[in-house]
Amino acid sequence: MEIRFQQANPGNYLPASRGKGQIRYLVIHFTANDGDTAKNNADYFKNTNVSTSAHYFVDEKEVWQSVRDADVAWHCGTRGTYFHPYCRNGNSIGIELCSRMKNGQYYFQPGTVENAVQLVRMLMKKYGIAPDCVVRHYDVTHKNCPAPFVENAAAWKDFQRKLTEEVDDMTADEVKNLIAQSKTVYNTVSSVPDWGRATVEKLARKGWLKGEGSATGLNLPEEVLRVLVINDRAGIYGD
Ligand SMILES: [Zn+2]
Repeated sequence: MEIRFQQANPGNYLPASRGKGQIRYLVIHFTANDGDTAKNNADYFKNTNVSTSAHYFVDEKEVWQSVRDADVAWHCGTRGTYFHPYCRNGNSIGIELCSRMKNGQYYFQPGTVENAVQLVRMLMKKYGIAPDCVVRHYDVTHKNCPAPFVENAAAWKDFQRKLTEEVDDMTADEVKNLIAQSKTVYNTVSSVPDWGRATVEKLARKGWLKGEGSATGLNLPEEVLRVLVINDRAGIYGD
């Protein structure tokens, strides 16, 4: 995934040159805004000295980095009580998800959650961080952050599940068998259901999925589509 970088105002973070082993936790936050973008936040923390920061900002389209991983951002500190025994600013990376509001309730757009999953999976791999070291700001200080994952425990569980979802790496023979057994076959992009359409459009755009317009069309069985979508969610096909 592509990550854009715009350095935060020097007053908003601590240059630290942390080594890989010193980054142990990923802390998830929400911006508590309605309609902001990742770039809005990167601009704000560049232009404004507020003695607070996060490493990454995520919206449904983009990821912007504001503080380098090796530097310490001020995102989960408190003068009050810590409810997590180990996670602190000094050993964590802060990730802010842009929020939206409806009927007085904050929520995340599905694309924002998907982008955050991709970013977190990438950072888990890079720093060898276990799934249970991906925490909410709430888990560190009991602040209601990120509200959509604190007020809705099932949404947080779902996010955690996506961090460890297996990427399906079937053999060619297994794929052939699936095709042979398959009942539903999609032959046009427009016949693909909503949950798979973006993936199919992406693969067609990149020229990896051909057949549209030919006699047989896409000839894409539903089980294969399912695997393509899982791989796409795992970031295998890029942007
Ligand atoms: Zn927070």
